[in-house]
Amino acid sequence: MTTASQTHDVINPATEEVVRSVELASLEQADAAIARASAAAPAWAAVAPADRALLLRRFSDLVGEHQEELALLEVENAGHTIGNARWEAGNVRDVLAYYSGAPERNFGRQIPVAGGIDVTFREPLGVVGIIVPWNFPMPIAGWGFAPALAAGNTVVLKPAELTPLTAMRLGELALEAGIPEGVLTVVPGKGPVVGERFVTHPEVRKVCFTGSTAVGQRIMRGAADQVKRITLELGGKSANIVFADSDLELAAARAPYGVFDNAGQDCCARSRILVQRSVFETFMEHFETAVRGVVVTDPRDESAEMGPLISAGQRDTVRSYVEEATEDVDVAFRGDAPDGSGYWYPATVVLPRSTTDRVWQEEVFGPVVAVMPFDDEADAVAKANDTAYGLSGSIWTRDIGRGLRVARGVEAGNLSVNSHSSVRYSTPFGGFKQSGIGRELGPDALDAFSEVKNVFISTD
Ligand code: NAD
Repeated sequence: MTTASQTHDVINPATEEVVRSVELASLEQADAAIARASAAAPAWAAVAPADRALLLRRFSDLVGEHQEELALLEVENAGHTIGNARWEAGNVRDVLAYYSGAPERNFGRQIPVAGGIDVTFREPLGVVGIIVPWNFPMPIAGWGFAPALAAGNTVVLKPAELTPLTAMRLGELALEAGIPEGVLTVVPGKGPVVGERFVTHPEVRKVCFTGSTAVGQRIMRGAADQVKRITLELGGKSANIVFADSDLELAAARAPYGVFDNAGQDCCARSRILVQRSVFETFMEHFETAVRGVVVTDPRDESAEMGPLISAGQRDTVRSYVEEATEDVDVAFRGDAPDGSGYWYPATVVLPRSTTDRVWQEEVFGPVVAVMPFDDEADAVAKANDTAYGLSGSIWTRDIGRGLRVARGVEAGNLSVNSHSSVRYSTPFGGFKQSGIGRELGPDALDAFSEVKNVFISTD
């Protein structure tokens, strides 16, 4: 199969104006990028650990120097608020700095055995394909390429069609930092063309995918043909559990930021709120004040807390959960959203009548949160776990024993107590159940980008 290269107009979601037209790679261009990455792999794996560390550190420093430029580009590319976009560019800088410490510490082991010496090595895989979604174009790219490069792999990276600009800029900065040609190649293109090629090409030894569960399942099936290594970071339907013994005002004040960040287009969004029945009404009063206070405006505005959705299509999907579901779901209250151009949608709080309702079970990926009461600890854990997903979750309580008990009971990869924080570059991130396979960030990501080799040397 051959595919002609095409172009894609990147649209600013806040203005609906074309930012730039980007050439999408054809199948042949994807193959050429993979061939370059494959050719670059042996030399990159052989770079002395201290030199590889230095190159990653320089890359990190350059991302830091360009933080404002990258942030402003992300505002246009993905409609992120300027505050969030600065954090995201800073996160790529920090992730690179963190993994620049890894090449010199990617230790193997020496294992006691009879008759000789046994040692393990952590070998790079070769070429790694990273497939990135549109919701966090910069951090998700960085969480893939930083540990992959540190572990001695070369990388081909496909950004989402809708949001390629910041990943392309990061690719340029890598070259500017002195990382050799072919070691990190950004290949803008369509999922079924470039993404799929990463899965079928035998020289790509691992695919690291972040995106929807449906595409993740397809990648998993495709990877089976070559027993290809995969990491999957997929959807979520995370619960925010608020106990009566929590600081209720604080829990309510923070709840919007656990779900409406990035206009709810966040795999970790706490899009189900479970509130202990005895404090349900009081929580909802405080929560309404907090939701109405979220500043939804031009994402370039320093005060903006929530921007637009990524596209008109995404807004239609989000609408379908609220407007088409009025028989089973009551809309409790909504925030404001600007009129006019831009894919705006107001923060919306709904009360589903049943846990089988679509809005309670499915990932909306927009600023819609469903709230439901629970009776006791066991009921809270059961309701939180009544989903196919298992990515994140929060527990609000003043009883630390309860916080830890519930955190252990919830089937999810990233829990926080009295916080909505899910991501730190030094701690593992990933999902249980249908939210994914494998872990990114922290020391775990280095394991995910290397093979363990065991060597026995006879001393007899
Ligand atoms: P998507 O699955 O449509 O696309 C993700 C990426 O996969 C894009 O780059 C796309 O071009 C590519 N792709 C599409 N079809 C492909 C195919 N057949 N083969 C290979 N690649 C293909 O997802 P999206 O709509 O861009 O992103 C939203 C989804 O991502 C949500 O479900 C969200 O929960 C999930 N997500 C998960 C995490 C996490 O860490 N768990 C983080 C962010 C987003």
